[in-house]
Amino acid sequence: MSFDTNITLPDPATGRAVYRQHARDWLAANLPEHMLADSLNWRAPTLDESIDWEAAMHKAGLAGMTWPVQYGGHGLTLREHLAVNKEVGALMMPESVSSIGKELAGPIIMAVGTEEQKSTFLPRILAMQDMWCQGFSEPEAGSDLARLRTRAVQEGDSWRINGQKIWTSGAAKAQYCFLLTRTGTVADKHRGMVMFAVPMNTPGIRVAPIRSIDDKESFAEVFFDNVVVPDSARLGAPDEGWSAAIRVLSIERATNRMYRPWRVEAELTFLIRACKSDPALAGLLSGSHARSRIGAAQAEIDGLKGLIESAVDQMVAGAPIGARGSLSKLYWSETHQSLVALALDMLGGVGPKSSPLARRAHDYFNNAYLFARAETIYAGASEVQRDIIAQRILNLPTELQA
Ligand SMILES: Cc1cc2nc3c(=O)[nH]c(=O)nc-3n(C[C@H](O)[C@H](O)[C@H](O)COP(=O)(O)OP(=O)(O)OC[C@H]3O[C@@H](n4cnc5c(N)ncnc54)[C@H](O)[C@@H]3O)c2cc1C
Repeated sequence: MSFDTNITLPDPATGRAVYRQHARDWLAANLPEHMLADSLNWRAPTLDESIDWEAAMHKAGLAGMTWPVQYGGHGLTLREHLAVNKEVGALMMPESVSSIGKELAGPIIMAVGTEEQKSTFLPRILAMQDMWCQGFSEPEAGSDLARLRTRAVQEGDSWRINGQKIWTSGAAKAQYCFLLTRTGTVADKHRGMVMFAVPMNTPGIRVAPIRSIDDKESFAEVFFDNVVVPDSARLGAPDEGWSAAIRVLSIERATNRMYRPWRVEAELTFLIRACKSDPALAGLLSGSHARSRIGAAQAEIDGLKGLIESAVDQMVAGAPIGARGSLSKLYWSETHQSLVALALDMLGGVGPKSSPLARRAHDYFNNAYLFARAETIYAGASEVQRDIIAQRILNLPTELQA
């Protein structure tokens, strides 16, 4: 695959609309058709193809928009980030294979890393030379992350790490893990937590992939058995791990994959196109039941777009992300689950004699339905988001009365 990367990026002073048009034009000219899930020529890209594609996107100004130029970024604002995300979302293109590096590890390195860590790690993330995984969750510590047990003991200029992580997305392909550990015991709760940037090829690390309901092995258990890293691998101060972790989680909830409402809208468009392409399904679009659900889905999508736009306005104005990220997380995950459930209901009658596009949509939405089960769990389960909204946004009492 070859892409046009010999381009001059638009001057941001010309406005967001121009930047968005640049993104639209470049994607239209460069995105291979086989990467579009709503194309009959779709096939899953290989990892190498995804890496090449994402490296080209970065060179074309469509990744690292907000990162400083000195670290390989484009030095723009969240507004250009959002403008690009709208175009990325409007196309049924593959999910990034490096979103954890670009959207979580990168911002956290920028926030707490040393100058050397920033200049070493950040350009390599954007150039797709390194992929990262996030080592937070453990068998006994998910929603209640403060119960994690993985232990880091300082030995002179190095640290010895022992413990286990679970559900670590992309661990099998990652070059680095940003790993949350503790120096003391679980009784210390959020005190004494330390974060590290650990190369995944360090002796003592074992990755055991987990097969999920969609028959993929996208996450893993990761075991740390006497893993020794230098003190220079520490991200932030020795006691800064918890505040850094909270920052990662709020970024994850608010800004990670900001294209979601536009992607859910593209999925809805795909569903309607697929139904129209097949005489047996086309009639569904005239039925009041399907029409009211489609209308409700579009209303949810529009609400979600408004939420994202206003969050960007607030962040550009300097307001912290804070608990409001929980609103976006809760809303997009539940909106997406109801959309894919609608799609499966509508495409339930698809069989070998259905139109090719209806069969493609059936395959796509079957898969999306299975993965969407995880969306109300990862990055903080819905129940936990509701708790945060109740307590930190609405200031409701923490105790329920009978
Ligand atoms: C696809 C996928 C990818 C993931 N990728 C990563 C990754 O890359 N790195 C990583 O570190 N982790 C990852 N995770 C883990 C994810 O963050 C956890 O699954 C999540 O935090 C929930 O924790 P848990 O699974 O231990 O469930 P638990 O915390 O045990 O929760 C079980 C149930 O109890 C409910 N519950 C828990 N606490 C409360 C409460 N206070 N009030 C009400 N209900 C509550 C939950 O909502 C849930 O329904 C991933 C998970 C999935 C599904």
